[in-house]
Amino acid sequence: MTKIHRKSMKKGFDFTLKVAGASGLGKSTLVNSLFLTDLYRDGKLLGAEERIMQTVEITKHAVDIEEKGVRLRLTIVDTPGFGDAVNNTEWYRGRWGQFSNMFQSDSGHRFLFPRLRPLDVEFMKDLHQWVNIVPILAKADTLTPPEVDCKKRKIREEIERFGIKIYQIPDCDLDEDEDFKLKDQALKESIPFAVIGSNTIVEARGRRVRGRLYPWGIVEGYLLAPQWALRLCEAEDNDLKDVTRETHYENYRAQCIQSMTR
Ligand code: GDP
Ligand code: MG
Repeated sequence: MTKIHRKSMKKGFDFTLKVAGASGLGKSTLVNSLFLTDLYRDGKLLGAEERIMQTVEITKHAVDIEEKGVRLRLTIVDTPGFGDAVNNTEWYRGRWGQFSNMFQSDSGHRFLFPRLRPLDVEFMKDLHQWVNIVPILAKADTLTPPEVDCKKRKIREEIERFGIKIYQIPDCDLDEDEDFKLKDQALKESIPFAVIGSNTIVEARGRRVRGRLYPWGIVEGYLLAPQWALRLCEAEDNDLKDVTRETHYENYRAQCIQSMTR
């Protein structure tokens, strides 16, 4: 164990994930889907009106996870929409310092983006020097599967055309079996990840699930599949340049991300 690694193990690790994008895309719902935070307040179940509140400031949700004496502090940061009003982008930029401080002090950080607009392109080009960007296709239930594929392809093309550096999932080991390699390939081709957020619990096929209840049926919430999340975690290690790979460290991080996807 290197000296720096020993120190990190003692101190624990910080993992910060922030969401950004236009207002109304479903960012807060997605964050709340991860934390189950917004269903109740003071023990009372909230009504739809109370739950749908526009995010007006940067909000943090933090959770401490401890595994074999190693602490992981996971912080998810929700942000208000940008680019919706005049000077809104400037407002965002004004908080740039706050963001970059956090970026630099974190041992790992991700940025999730639902959908892509010219403003997003501009913002992402600013951002990609600081953070790992993970593009997300929000409200996937509002598109048919062929539409999801088409939209994903377009976003990938735009990311390429505008020279935006998004987070690259590292190649898997050559000695992995064919099945794993195929899944890995599928994972890479599935960027931007499609998600369905929900802040209600509904009954579907005898199970209580996070889902969206419509007059015509239920759409189950959908986040990242565990194997995807695992590959994203692995990559996190690339950022921790001085920290050696340590199995149990990787495991607890993987577990934390996995529990977010349940
Ligand atoms: P934000 O402004 O990006 O934080 O968006 P919100 O999370 O406040 O969501 C805006 C609206 O979109 C709310 O009415 C949500 O119920 C709805 N919404 C959020 N996620 C989804 C989703 O995955 N699918 C659908 N159909 N609607 C969603
Ligand atoms: Mg919001």
